Amino acid sequence: MLDDQWFSEAQTASGTAFSLKITRKLHEEQSEFQFLEIYETEQFGNLMVIDGCTMVSTRDNFFYHEMMSHPVLYTHPNPKKVWIIGGGDCGTLREVLKHPGIEQAVQIDIDERVTRLAEIYFPELCESNNDPRAELKFIDGIKWVKDAAPNSVDIIIVDSTDPVGPAEGLFSADFYKDCFNCLTENGIVVQQSESALLHMKILKEMRAEMQAGGFTHLQTVFFPQCIYPSGWWSATMASKKALSSFREQDALNKGFDTVYYNSDIHKASLAMPEFFKKAFA
Ligand code: SAM
Repeated sequence: MLDDQWFSEAQTASGTAFSLKITRKLHEEQSEFQFLEIYETEQFGNLMVIDGCTMVSTRDNFFYHEMMSHPVLYTHPNPKKVWIIGGGDCGTLREVLKHPGIEQAVQIDIDERVTRLAEIYFPELCESNNDPRAELKFIDGIKWVKDAAPNSVDIIIVDSTDPVGPAEGLFSADFYKDCFNCLTENGIVVQQSESALLHMKILKEMRAEMQAGGFTHLQTVFFPQCIYPSGWWSATMASKKALSSFREQDALNKGFDTVYYNSDIHKASLAMPEFFKKAFA
């Protein structure tokens, strides 16, 4: 915090900071796993912060939650079973369950307190938690995937914190190997992959670990996210075989509301900036 008027997340490594004017602190606690804070902001609604890092705001979370779910769901030919590793605020779960073809969506977050706070401070993100297709588990996602049976899920969405603390192992080849084993033949894992501008080293390492885990085809998508460092975020999909361009016709006729995602946005998010192409040539 700069003072009692502002929440500020400083990124020492990149020499940048992002601030939001706050009206009050609504909650803070040290959970078993991380330090959780909730602020009321002047312009962005409520803000969840974990270990000093901005996670979710009422005003702009739709970018992240929609782009973590709809591109991968419209890339898989026929997804029925989805696991969300992390994602405790439940926003990704809500987006996944907008797809009528989904038969089961399991959210596996290590920290039950994140979900309990989201229920209070972000109730709109939790509105599908009682959908009969939804299951909420509170255990380590690394263990969940390691213990899973082969060929048991179509899509794994890794909606995690940054690669530190309990999330560190979610960016490792061992974890991706376990994901590879429990995904079905057309299976896809997608993971939030930080800012291509500020965190290229993490992105490069993550893509290399995905390949070391057995995935042969990778595709990074880009989208805005104003409360995250640089305001420009990414997610990386990894699959066992070539990813189709995507089910464009289904995306055009999606039949549910989104704020950001549509088939044009999907296509645009696949376009690779020149520096990114060079980095992965
Ligand atoms: N959108 C956010 C971002 O990119 O900064 C992520 C939000 S979500 C709240 C991140 C969640 O990952 C947290 O609730 C945290 O508890 C969870 N998490 C971290 N490590 C985990 C692990 N090993 N297994 C399951 N969940 C984990």
